[in-house]
Amino acid sequence: MKPPPFRYSSPTTVADAVALLAEHAADDARVLAGGQSLVPLMNFRLAQPGHVIDLRRVAGLDTIRLAGGELVIGAMVRQATAERSPEVALAAPLLAEALGHVAHPPIRNSGTVVGSIAHADPAAELPAVALAMDAELTAVGPGGERRITAADFFQGPFTTALGADEILTEVRFRSFPGGHAFVEFSRTHGNFAVVAVAVLVALADGRITRSAIAASGLGGTPLRLTAAEQAWEGSTAGSAAIDAAVDAGTAGLDPAGDLHAGSATRIDIARSCLREALERATERALDRR
Ligand SMILES: Cc1cc2nc3c(=O)[nH]c(=O)nc-3n(C[C@H](O)[C@H](O)[C@H](O)COP(=O)(O)OP(=O)(O)OC[C@H]3O[C@@H](n4cnc5c(N)ncnc54)[C@H](O)[C@@H]3O)c2cc1C
Repeated sequence: MKPPPFRYSSPTTVADAVALLAEHAADDARVLAGGQSLVPLMNFRLAQPGHVIDLRRVAGLDTIRLAGGELVIGAMVRQATAERSPEVALAAPLLAEALGHVAHPPIRNSGTVVGSIAHADPAAELPAVALAMDAELTAVGPGGERRITAADFFQGPFTTALGADEILTEVRFRSFPGGHAFVEFSRTHGNFAVVAVAVLVALADGRITRSAIAASGLGGTPLRLTAAEQAWEGSTAGSAAIDAAVDAGTAGLDPAGDLHAGSATRIDIARSCLREALERATERALDRR
């Protein structure tokens, strides 16, 4: 399949990219990052932007840096670059682990971290990581710059709080000292998640002091499993705490079923992924002491 005709711009500054978005708003202008979601959608004519604004030549969007306890990843940083980055390994090992589950290496060589978050596929891995890590997205539009928390960003399947006239320039992940784990069930490795669970946990004197748990594949957006966090925080790390967190975290879930898994099966898979992630994150937190 080929896309219908569209116009193409390749700006070199964020200001020019934002101006082009405004100028071509009536043509349903869209930003192009790695193209690994937008181009297939255009080829299948599920998206028909009249104007495509390519971010590849925009200066300053391809850096990864550590800034005051935050890992800042620019909008044109490819998933493969982040996966291999020492800064990501140090400050966000949860993200590094999740990236290994995103598609296959050729896709990750082009696809960007921010593009995956912007696309907001409910079965994607990185939105759940962004939610667990209390990430913030920096958006630039005609009115200037603003920050959007991951908790506010995801509004529905493929729907976000980003305005049609805004561009994301970076994502900021808050570093979380402790244990981490990303566990996914998918039909084959490299497929989108049927269910995926991201866990961060901090321990002191054998007790769980703080945690962050989020999942993909259980609703129209990634979900923060706050009931699971509350159920085990304050408890002694171990199987009883994990049992409590698994029960609490999956109690209120009502995911829609699809071809890959019915609702009840999805909850069973979620229980299994959550248990494995809690166990692995706890072991890693214990190893770090
Ligand atoms: C065969 C295949 C398998 C895949 N498997 C998986 C998988 O298992 N898990 C997974 O998570 N993903 C998977 N993907 C998708 C892949 O991860 C994409 O790279 C990612 O979803 C989008 O990133 P991108 O940089 O390619 O964005 P693009 O495709 O360029 O853009 C996607 C959307 O985000 C918007 N956008 C991108 N960047 C910005 C920005 N800076 N500001 C504002 N809007 C922006 C675009 O306008 C567009 O609407 C797969 C893709 C393919 C082709």
